Amino acid sequence: MLEYTTQTTLKVAASVCDRCQRRLTPEDMDWHEGLSLFRIAGYASVFGDGNAISLDLCPECVKEVLGQWIRISSPEVQ
Ligand SMILES: [Zn+2]
Repeated sequence: MLEYTTQTTLKVAASVCDRCQRRLTPEDMDWHEGLSLFRIAGYASVFGDGNAISLDLCPECVKEVLGQWIRISSPEVQ
């Protein structure tokens, strides 16, 4: 027999772009096209040993900042 306890979980309610401050919620059409990144830097990292790095960008800023390196293909090609 399994026994259970209650727990509280957090759910992302919004994301504010670190570059342009645009606020997106999961209800926005382009919510899934933004970029959120969180990493703990490793040994000898360019970000510093053990430092936490994080970034949230809206889709427009992802395209403006990273656009030249993003590989975009049409749904028929995927
Ligand atoms: Zn932005």
